[in-house]
Amino acid sequence: MNKNRERFSQLDRNKTIEDRAFYSSTAWAQASKHHRINNPLCIQCKRAGRITAATLVHHNPDRRVLMARGESPLDPAYFESLCTPCHNRELSQRQSGCDNSNSIDIVLGNQINVFKG
Ligand SMILES: [Zn+2]
Repeated sequence: MNKNRERFSQLDRNKTIEDRAFYSSTAWAQASKHHRINNPLCIQCKRAGRITAATLVHHNPDRRVLMARGESPLDPAYFESLCTPCHNRELSQRQSGCDNSNSIDIVLGNQINVFKG
C-alpha cells in the first residue's frame, strides 16, 4: 500500500455513519455532479495558476459546520470542485487543526464547541 493510499484510507475511516449516509445519498450525487459539470476545474489548482480537472466536490466550510449553523449541505454556495491531491491536503489540514478559516465549529453530540484560530 503506498503512502497516499494509506493516508486516504485513514481519512476515510474518520467518516461517521452519518457522513457515509450523506455522501452516498442520491441528493448529494445529483447536487455534486451538477456542480462539477458547471465547475469542472480544481479551484485550488486554478488559484495556483494550474489547470487541473476536478475529481470531486468538497464542502467549504465542512459539512458538519454547515449542519451546526443550520445551513443546508446541499447548497452549492458551499461547494468547491477539487482534484484528489488538493482534497486530501484539505482534509489532512482540517484534521490536524490547520484549517485556513479563522474558526471551526465542531459538533460533539448536542454541544457545539467553537475553536478560534
Ligand atoms: Zn487541485
